Amino acid sequence: MEELSEVFSPGEISAAVKRLGAEISRDYAGRGILALCVLNGSFIFFSDLIREVTPPVEVDFLKVRSYSSTESSGVVRVECWPNADIKGKDVLIVEDIVDTGLTLNVIIKRLMAENPSTLKVCALLDKRSGRKAEINPDYTGFLVGDHFFAGYGLDLDGRHRNLQGVFRVRPPG
Ligand code: 5GP
Repeated sequence: MEELSEVFSPGEISAAVKRLGAEISRDYAGRGILALCVLNGSFIFFSDLIREVTPPVEVDFLKVRSYSSTESSGVVRVECWPNADIKGKDVLIVEDIVDTGLTLNVIIKRLMAENPSTLKVCALLDKRSGRKAEINPDYTGFLVGDHFFAGYGLDLDGRHRNLQGVFRVRPPG
C-alpha cells in the first residue's frame, strides 16, 4: 500500500478556510458571488468555504476531465457545465489544487466567453512549481511542493476523499 503522511491537519485546514472566507467576504462586500465548484475534488473545500463567506452566494458546479493521452496539452472534456447565467455575475471558481494550471486555463477561457462581470479563482492547494499555464489563484490556502496529495476531497484512484486532513502520498516501497 502507498504511504500517507499528513501535511495539513483538520485544524490547519479549518484555519485556512476561515482566512480565505474572510478575505473573500471583505473583497465582495456589498456584492453577490456566483461560486463554482470544480468537481469532484473541490466538493468538501467548497462546502466549507462558502459557509465562511458572508455576502450572498449562489452555487453551481462544473466537471471537466483531462484526456489522459493529451493531459499535458490541457485538452479537457466538459462533463458538466453550470446552468447558472454567468453573464454580468461576479464569478469565483473554487478549485482543490492547481498544478500545471492547464485545466483552469480551459475553464477560465470558456467562462470568459460567457461575459462574467468579474472572474476570480480560489484554490486550497497551489503546486506552483508545476505551472505550465499562467494561472495565479486570487486566493490560496497553501503553497505545496511537487508531490501528490490526497484527503479533504482529493483522491488517489477514487480513494481517500473522506480523510479529514490533507496527506502527501508516497508510492509503496
Ligand atoms: P492541472 O490542470 O492544474 O495540472 O491539474 C488540476 C487537476 O489535477 C486538479 O483539479 C486535480 O484534479 C488534479 N491534481 C493535480 N495534482 C493533484 C494531487 O496532488 N492530488 C490529486 N488528488 N489531484 C491532483
